Amino acid sequence: MLLPSGETIPALGMGTWMMAERPGRRADEITALRTGLDLGLSLVDTAEMYANGASEELVGEAIAGRRDEVFLVSKVLPSHASAAGTVRACEASLRRLGTDRLDLYLLHWRGGVPFEQTLEGFAALVESGKVRHWGVSNLDLDDMRELTALPGSCQTNQILYNLSRRGPEHDLLPWHASTGIPVMAYSPVEQGRLLDSPALASVAGRHGATPAQVALAWVLRLPHVNAIPKAGTAEHVRENARALELRLTTEDLADLDDAFPPPSGPTPLAVL
Ligand code: NDP
Repeated sequence: MLLPSGETIPALGMGTWMMAERPGRRADEITALRTGLDLGLSLVDTAEMYANGASEELVGEAIAGRRDEVFLVSKVLPSHASAAGTVRACEASLRRLGTDRLDLYLLHWRGGVPFEQTLEGFAALVESGKVRHWGVSNLDLDDMRELTALPGSCQTNQILYNLSRRGPEHDLLPWHASTGIPVMAYSPVEQGRLLDSPALASVAGRHGATPAQVALAWVLRLPHVNAIPKAGTAEHVRENARALELRLTTEDLADLDDAFPPPSGPTPLAVL
């Protein structure tokens, strides 16, 4: 997927929300992330919020010695997103991640701090080399228009988008396509809730694929959208990686439209 900076980033990455919450799963989670890196899923998404920083620590452990392979994404909480607070939050994230830089730093969602202040913090972080690019998350169209009227180059908007959350197709995704600012789709398998769908099973059956692969391939059909599923086991990571090989046909897409209709009008952006 192409960023406005001209850099290409992986179409399929890995999420880490709810990792580092259960000690008994830690080893599997680290193995899952390392397996993903082996398979080229080199974009890793985390946030200071996740497990109160422990997700970033787990990611740091998983990528130790392999930092240069990774496109590393983290997020600042809106309550920290003043100019100075953004810099402080980033420095704390870097310590937990055991690295000197983030590839992409996102405002997690819009809070009470004016965009100008957060952008001032992002600019300082870019200037000092602690952040290579910045972007946002959970911003609907009006907020994106307001943000992009300000100086600076937003590289992405990370939003909830999957077969059961098609609202952004009405106006937000077309706007992103027209501006060249791509979208990162979070919760692309709706946290697992999509995977029991008979329509997904039926399409998957035609391809010898799995429902998760179909759900991911569907998100990835759009060139300006990537997906960051979270998988806590190496087996799920391997399964998800194979979604990159799956091309859905016109018939598949029509069947999925029947089961998960596109929006018929403006739909406020949903968040999780
Ligand atoms: P996902 O849609 O990625 O679903 C994750 C769940 O699906 C987990 O329970 C996982 O189980 C399961 N799963 C994944 N792959 C498979 C598979 N092949 N077969 C069966 N089950 C599977 O939800 P998330 O909410 O985690 O979203 C992904 C990432 O997006 C987050 O981890 C986070 O990084 C980011 N995010 C960002 C938000 C924001 O506000 N910016 C909000 C929400 C998420 P298991 O762990 O057992 O593999």
